[in-house]
Amino acid sequence: MSFYSDLGVEPIINAAATLTAIGGSIMPDDVIAAMQDSAKCYVDMTELQKIAGDHLAKLTKNEAAYVTPGCAAGLVLATLACITRGDPGRISRMPRGKGLPKEVVMFCGQRIPYDRAIELAGGRIRQIGNSVQTFPWELEEALSHRTAAVLFVAGSHLTGGLSLADTIAIARSKNVPVVVDAAAQLPPVENLWHFTSTMGADLVLFSGGKALRGPQASGLMVGKEILVDAARANASPNQRFARAMKAGKEEIAGLVCAVERFLDLDHESLSEQYEVQVSTWIDALSGFPGVEPRRSFPNEAGQPVPRLELCINPQVAGFSASEIQDELFAGKPRIAVLRVRDSIYITPDTIMPGEASIISETVQALIRGYMSH
Ligand SMILES: *Cc1c(COP(=O)(O)O)cnc(C)c1O
Repeated sequence: MSFYSDLGVEPIINAAATLTAIGGSIMPDDVIAAMQDSAKCYVDMTELQKIAGDHLAKLTKNEAAYVTPGCAAGLVLATLACITRGDPGRISRMPRGKGLPKEVVMFCGQRIPYDRAIELAGGRIRQIGNSVQTFPWELEEALSHRTAAVLFVAGSHLTGGLSLADTIAIARSKNVPVVVDAAAQLPPVENLWHFTSTMGADLVLFSGGKALRGPQASGLMVGKEILVDAARANASPNQRFARAMKAGKEEIAGLVCAVERFLDLDHESLSEQYEVQVSTWIDALSGFPGVEPRRSFPNEAGQPVPRLELCINPQVAGFSASEIQDELFAGKPRIAVLRVRDSIYITPDTIMPGEASIISETVQALIRGYMSH
């Protein structure tokens, strides 16, 4: 990696997750080639966005699609779309939008660090329920002439909200659109159409730089044409409020290629490979006192991806999970893993060829080092 070493930046083996903070994901060669090709000539950006969007909509079995510069940017655009409904007068009044419906209803248990994107769009979050439960009447009561949308954050790890089906049924009875943040909900690949075509959500947002392995600064919006067009009208290349949400021609090309590629993957065989990898890691890291390796499922975002969990009893092992996490990140090569309390988690879906054994050998060496003193 001569660019990074010339600059003095240390590369990372990512066994943690598709985290923005450590680079998201790695683009496959065909995605990089699509970005390179697209960078070599001028095009009409409105036309490119429209044609690429129509192509992505067809591929993902949706009415419409749009390339955003990320899922958080997608939240800004979805909020603006629902507040303005694409009306030029309303668009020109954002972000203050006096008198416009600006409330976005969210379940308490689905509040996430990214939801301030709603405020960036001039929206206001109206939180209902608590982290344990929400009743249907709470959603009914929250929806009014001030409501722009309901934001539902997908993922089996988020609890305390209503089901998506109940949310959509109630919102629909009041003519309120439902936006789904599905940033990290791929795989399963079916989620590209499940939330919209099957469940009836109005807009769904994905990250391009997570499992899709598109450009890190890309995202995919799919859903109802009227709302996707409203998002488009607020964003680049138009000189409107959300002009800052600019996907370049390179991101658009990269994301189109990444979605095509993701749809063509043999997801079943990938799942099998992940299972084999996790078993191999379990075998390699068994037999150390105070260190219990096991298969953990689903992953931190509720996705159907198995991970290796190393549960560490610090009294017996002589070191803690956080110590080993820090040492892995401080080592050469740098290895990133996730940790929750006394466990570290190692995932097979973000690593590159050849890295699996480096990870287990490094962990073994660290454990042996602790045991010897
Ligand atoms: C990652 C993530 C985002 C942000 O997505 P970007 O594509 O990085 O902008 C938003 N929401 C959720 C739930 C996420 O996991």
